[in-house]
Amino acid sequence: MDTQPQATEIVHVQSSTISCDGGVGQLGHPLVYLRITARQVTCPYCSKLFVLDEGAVDTGH
Ligand SMILES: [Zn+2]
Repeated sequence: MDTQPQATEIVHVQSSTISCDGGVGQLGHPLVYLRITARQVTCPYCSKLFVLDEGAVDTGH
């Protein structure tokens, strides 16, 4: 069950700027905004890994 410390949830996103609140349940945390700078970013709160979809339009600069 929850015995895997490295169990990381991977979320594929279409935008380089995302927000995360940990989702519902025990993993919830204050809403934070993260910016993907190298095709992926890990949420410092819940360690969720956000991966920029291939072919996603860069909405940044
Ligand atoms: Zn999070």
